[in-house]
Amino acid sequence: MSEGLSRRSFLKIASAAGAAAAIPGCEPAGRELIPYVVPDENVIPGVPSFYATTCNECGAGCGVVARVREGRVIKLEGNPKDLIGQGSLCARGQAALQGLYNPDRLAHPFVRGDDGRLRRVSWDVATRELLGKLAGAAKAGKDRVAYLARPQGPTLDKVAGLWLAAWNSSKAVFYEPLATPVAQQAAQDCFGRSDAPVYHLDQAEALISFGADFIETWESPVELARQYAAMRTPRERRGKLTIGRSAYVGPRMNVTAAKCDEWVAVKPGHEAAIAMSVLYVLVRQGWISPNSGFDIATLKSFVEGYEPDAVSQQTGVPAEAIVRMGQMFGQAEGAVALAGTDDKQTHVAAYILNVVTGNLGKTVTFLDGAPPSPYSPQAEVDGLVQAMSQKQVDVLVIAGANPVYSMPPAAKFNDALRQVPFVVWCGLVPDETAERAHLLIPIHHPLEGWRDIAPRAGVNGLGQPVMQPVFESRDLGDLMLTTARAGGADTKTIPWESMADAVNASFQQLQKQLGDKNKPEDFFAQALRDGGVFAEAKAADAKFNATIFQNKPKPPGAGPDLALAVFPHIFLYDGRGADKPWLQEIPEPVDQIVWDSWAGIHPDTAKALGIASDEVIELQTDQGSAAIAALVTEQVRPGVIAVPLGQGHSACGRYAKGRGVNAFTLLSPGALSAEVKVRATGGKSRLVTPLFSEDMMGRNIVEATSIEELARGVTPESEEVPGPYEMYPPFKYPGHKWGMTIDVNACVGCSACVAACYAENNLSIVGKEGVANGRIMSWMRIERYTPPKDEADKAPLMYITPMLCQQCDHAPCEPVCPVFAAYHTEEGINGQNYNRCVGTRYCENNCPYKVRRFNWYKPEWPAPLHLQLNPDVTVRGAGVMEKCTFCMQRIVSAEIDAKTGNRTLHDGEIVPACAQTCPTRAISFGDMNDAQSEMMRRRKDNELRTYRVLNAEFNTLPAITYLREIYHEKGRA
Ligand code: SF4
Ligand code: SF4
Repeated sequence: MSEGLSRRSFLKIASAAGAAAAIPGCEPAGRELIPYVVPDENVIPGVPSFYATTCNECGAGCGVVARVREGRVIKLEGNPKDLIGQGSLCARGQAALQGLYNPDRLAHPFVRGDDGRLRRVSWDVATRELLGKLAGAAKAGKDRVAYLARPQGPTLDKVAGLWLAAWNSSKAVFYEPLATPVAQQAAQDCFGRSDAPVYHLDQAEALISFGADFIETWESPVELARQYAAMRTPRERRGKLTIGRSAYVGPRMNVTAAKCDEWVAVKPGHEAAIAMSVLYVLVRQGWISPNSGFDIATLKSFVEGYEPDAVSQQTGVPAEAIVRMGQMFGQAEGAVALAGTDDKQTHVAAYILNVVTGNLGKTVTFLDGAPPSPYSPQAEVDGLVQAMSQKQVDVLVIAGANPVYSMPPAAKFNDALRQVPFVVWCGLVPDETAERAHLLIPIHHPLEGWRDIAPRAGVNGLGQPVMQPVFESRDLGDLMLTTARAGGADTKTIPWESMADAVNASFQQLQKQLGDKNKPEDFFAQALRDGGVFAEAKAADAKFNATIFQNKPKPPGAGPDLALAVFPHIFLYDGRGADKPWLQEIPEPVDQIVWDSWAGIHPDTAKALGIASDEVIELQTDQGSAAIAALVTEQVRPGVIAVPLGQGHSACGRYAKGRGVNAFTLLSPGALSAEVKVRATGGKSRLVTPLFSEDMMGRNIVEATSIEELARGVTPESEEVPGPYEMYPPFKYPGHKWGMTIDVNACVGCSACVAACYAENNLSIVGKEGVANGRIMSWMRIERYTPPKDEADKAPLMYITPMLCQQCDHAPCEPVCPVFAAYHTEEGINGQNYNRCVGTRYCENNCPYKVRRFNWYKPEWPAPLHLQLNPDVTVRGAGVMEKCTFCMQRIVSAEIDAKTGNRTLHDGEIVPACAQTCPTRAISFGDMNDAQSEMMRRRKDNELRTYRVLNAEFNTLPAITYLREIYHEKGRA
């Protein structure tokens, strides 16, 4: 408990918070202390409540279950009923809490004065100001009010349309910086569809991704990571044990590429040619499905000029790699090609590959009843900017979007914005766009308001407020409804009083569509409990438009000598994650950089340019220039400079502001690459990473086996010591002995587990300087190593593993603690008694896994970030060592439940935070004394793959058993 807060005051606050949770309505929670005389029946102090809702961090639309304690949400989990996430969340979904409690959130409405300064105003003043401007604009003519927003669910988007109509306008533009319109055009051209298909990677035996980082940010990462892990699980096919084969074609080895069999390194823009060449191989070899109905002669003429040798000459990609990909794709029982680039031809070529191999309707399906694309076509975005620049817009309302940051310079949004007399910004943390607004309106975080989402047919997510608003914000939908009413809209055009009503009405309509016969209130109540209404949608009968073959794509040129390849950051994405400190501090899984942006350059290119890591280089494209620190790395193709999006903010709060560069400023609209010139500036800027070495130096930190060896029943030579050697009598565990099984082959390095651990266990952040000094506090991390060059053929592309306390039986940390703060529990956990710890750090020095973390400083959670802290877990102070205990609080809570219920614990009843959120179910937790537990069965079923990290060296007897990564032996793809 913090200094100066007595037990009595604490209890008062806790009880008042509980009472606040029960106050209905949308006003901020009462700030007065009210004795808990009549407790709310829904709130039991110390007992969490759970509310189902939806994630709003990206367009995938995973379901969420919010754990609420004493009126505040403290943790998010995936909703097992949701078809997309199926109970998992990614790191960004976990970090949504830091958007809710962000200390830099706008707390009140503000108006910008003539001197450019912001002045705090009341909601009455802000609403009056807004109404006055809207009425004036509506009177001045049609479409003089405009709305620019990120798509925020069908009901809110509909409300926005009606709201605009009330102000004599229909100018609504739904804008996503990274929504590739070319993908939409390709689906339109190939199938006449305005929606995107859904993919079933788990039904495929072969996968080629042309620039789609499906483990990181592309489409629906939680769902696709889960499917990919299933695809890579060993199974019998044609009488042989095998795993799916995969290849990634792109300029940078991201974590998606790292988990494939082959990374085909290309310059940006060459992906389409490679896809066409793979198609060439299929056509030449006759690997065209007889059911696809294509005329071979047409196909032959279509791929003419794309012989692997010719494409190899143009792109520098070895012809054998193209042929290998063709073989694996053409001969697979099910195959899937994905496209994530910024050019239409790659998307078209990927669709053709899927169609000609008969995979449309199998691994790629369009769905009946798919909702229309929520994004406005590029022409509408351009149209709005043009109208603004021609002074045809008097009031522009921007909600949940940051176009000043994310629109490339050539879009001329900034110039156009100057021509708009009144700009209203509605959002959470004031960003670059807010800096240009005249009226700033604080709106509810998605966890504070009502909403719905329909990311695809059959998935109707329902979002409800899971707690009272943290600040004096309002629901955007409510604001639009009340202002439309005030502007004269009648109940016929807008029949709802609030967003809650509007969402309820949408679900009543859904009920009718589904033919559900329950009472509407029961239907809605069930949807609230479930987090929505979910049903698998029927596949649509999509037909391929063969006229595509009449437009033969032009072979690519050689491309620029030096190309810039910009990629969305796995955590920061297009910049919207930058205000969340967990996402800044968790290392990007491949380059492992924190709190910064960087320019990845291949060693050969760096040598030719005379550049070393940490040197500041200037990147110059025809759109702009930026100075950025270089990172020399093998994970980028020679001749390419790879730069992540996400940083370079001049606003967005303390965690985002003033670090790295905004790569959008180097791009032309819609593009993610450009020709670039590079110049060393002579400056230095240290990139910070907790990664000590890329090389395992011969130790068995991550082990791998080939599927061929596995099929033969051979395992790599055992690293295990013949022991165990015991100095003392071995520990006995008469009750439970907790352990974990971690499947390295299933782990995709997404780091959701790391983010979940931060959230569950009150881990503090230390900032860039802290990480640079080796003081990162994460109890769990994703380690990655590259195989030595001479072993590359007998190894995966990259070794990736979760690393956390191994809960050793022979724990080297325990005997060295002079005060017995590091101790062994009766259930096999290596506990840490924070009260006893005097901070000698002997334990940390003696831990071979480097998983103990020492608090050099008093951790701080600037208000209201502290509201997220898990009350079940102690907040550690300065001078204290801390570490993973398999989420001890969850273990104890389940044990108490079982004891009070006079029953035994069930297997699976305890799930640590990391295991719970993992999209690929790579982590299993359970009782080592129970041979039938899922965790122990996983070990047994995969006996040939089990290993324990560093046990051979140290005889530590870890309670974590890993399952080896699996790779293909010969011919990478
Ligand atoms: Fe949220 Fe992550 Fe799912 Fe996107 S993929 S909806 S950010 S949990
Ligand atoms: Fe992602 Fe962690 Fe699961 Fe690996 S173990 S897939 S990094 S959540």
